[in-house]
Amino acid sequence: MKDFVLKAGRVIDPASGMDGRFDVRIRNGVIDGIGADLAADDTPIIDAAGLIVTPGLIDVHLHLMKGLGAFGADPDIFGIGSGVTTVVDAGSAGHTLFNVFRNYVTDNAKTRVLNYINLSTLGGVAGPGYGILADPRLIEEEKIEKAVEANRDLIVGIKVMATGGALGAEGLKPLARARGLGDALKLPLLVHIGESWSKNAQPPPIGDVLKYLRAGDIVTHMFTAHPGGLLDDKGKLWPEAREAKESGVLMDVGHGLHNLNFDVARRVLDQGLMPDAVSTDGHRGNRAGPVYDLPTTMAKLIALGISLTEVVAMATVNAAGLLGRVDQMGSIRVGEPAEISVLRVEEREWLAVDSQKQTIPARQAIVPVCAIRGDAIHRT
Ligand SMILES: [Zn+2]
Repeated sequence: MKDFVLKAGRVIDPASGMDGRFDVRIRNGVIDGIGADLAADDTPIIDAAGLIVTPGLIDVHLHLMKGLGAFGADPDIFGIGSGVTTVVDAGSAGHTLFNVFRNYVTDNAKTRVLNYINLSTLGGVAGPGYGILADPRLIEEEKIEKAVEANRDLIVGIKVMATGGALGAEGLKPLARARGLGDALKLPLLVHIGESWSKNAQPPPIGDVLKYLRAGDIVTHMFTAHPGGLLDDKGKLWPEAREAKESGVLMDVGHGLHNLNFDVARRVLDQGLMPDAVSTDGHRGNRAGPVYDLPTTMAKLIALGISLTEVVAMATVNAAGLLGRVDQMGSIRVGEPAEISVLRVEEREWLAVDSQKQTIPARQAIVPVCAIRGDAIHRT
């Protein structure tokens, strides 16, 4: 639809601090106005009364090499099909598969699809249980640099598996090489913590992993209950985790099949460590539960005591900052292309389920209604 007014929704835009009942007018795919009663002429109206209108939601950690392996999900299922306008693949492709990713995934999606390139040439398509960094030949700096320089529009960082299973006998050497690459390319590292796949492998101590990270790097799976997480065996936050956070290292939820544990989340939150971003770690194997979609993952954080506004900030302006893309997304700005999510917050009791099948009572559910990109309205 070329021109329309999204009428009388509660606009929550943490980037600007806006929270109130407003109309949003879209003309030729561009946000043309935000205010009260913008629907004076005969512009078609989409009634958003009773609904929440946010900047387009951003899911910063998924597996989107669609159809490939056990994991590759269609980006439009977790994207526009879930009320989300931007999705980010976390390391499915190493440099060898990067062009396939661009041509086959990004270019064919209605959702914006960005990418963390895998440090390993093998990428993550086979799944996380393999020693993809356990042989020094599997990191090829020059080829990664070439792929990044040719694809800066899509690549937002470098994915590193900090697990014993992935690192094998190489130990922390791949992290040092990732650090060198991140510095050379001026890209953040996205580091997976938690030994969730290999039962016999030992993860490197979290303190040793965090030594390689700097402000702007991202730790994903902050609420994992698996070895290698942010808590010691008494449930206390490792001091290095707090120091990392204070120095500007960002923390992402990365729910996934294994890595959102409500007990861990409560302890981490009680000790004052808040997530910077909320993400699904969505793939083919968790869409039907326990993950479902980003709005459901956001509602689980609300059940843990985080406010709706804070959770919307995590999925919009904070996520845009984490991706280094605040100029392109994460807020509703007049004159910019429309990237908007419309959600329904339902006040009802339900049981939120974590990756270990623990449940906690929740009183708000978030249901996606539509995702708007430009002049296209994608209803879920
Ligand atoms: Zn993942």
